[in-house]
Amino acid sequence: MKISIQNLTKQYGNQFALNNVSFDINQGEVIGLLGPNGAGKSTLMKCLIGSLNPTCGVITMDDEVIQKNELEAKKLMGYLPENNPLYTEMYVKEYLAFVADIRGLSMEEVHHVIEQVGLTPESSKKIKALSKGYKQRVGLAQAIIHQPEILILDEPTNGLDPNQIIEIRNLIRAVGQNKTVILSTHIMQEVAALCTRVVLLNQGEMLANKSIDEFKGDYNSLEDAFYDLTTK
Ligand code: ADP
Ligand code: MG
Repeated sequence: MKISIQNLTKQYGNQFALNNVSFDINQGEVIGLLGPNGAGKSTLMKCLIGSLNPTCGVITMDDEVIQKNELEAKKLMGYLPENNPLYTEMYVKEYLAFVADIRGLSMEEVHHVIEQVGLTPESSKKIKALSKGYKQRVGLAQAIIHQPEILILDEPTNGLDPNQIIEIRNLIRAVGQNKTVILSTHIMQEVAALCTRVVLLNQGEMLANKSIDEFKGDYNSLEDAFYDLTTK
């Protein structure tokens, strides 16, 4: 499955949240979507999963325009939104059963995903009673329950403690195998640990689309490269 983003633009009044962004994503790649706050990362992800209509431009999957067959495209994608919105009054298993029902899946998939993301000891608790790390596991569980080919994760480790960051990162690596992953983050270590390629956005413009090594180039670190490219 090859994804192609072509001349994607999203305009809010005079502001360009995305300005003529084009790049391709090959099957099995793990793309690190980088950029300062307000760069357009979440907007790009929302366009990809079809919850936001771009002002212009198209996204294709294997040459099919996704806007023309949104439902089929959505079946192939899993999405963990920024700040992981969950129904916190629901119990873990109840919530995942609800997601499974929407996706036309059985309780077997619910039990499988609970085990896969390491939620078994917490599965009878209310979501609001979980630590942030475990809430993130619930978010990941709803994103992968239907075994999508494409996984879109918007700042999945934001706000976690250092141990939780490592645990969620390892989980992303495990569940992301044999999938195409698009992940936004501010943690450059994470980019180095997980990603095969970097796409850098700033004020809606794409500034770089490079391998990690190319992105680092002659800079001392990925942080230096990021700083220099986004503050010029
Ligand atoms: P990022 O995820 O990189 O932090 P976003 O994609 O959330 O950035 O936002 C990109 C820009 O678009 C920001 O300047 C943001 O304020 C603006 N924006 C996003 N959503 C809306 C909206 N619904 N109405 C107006 N402006 C928006
Ligand atoms: Mg965002």
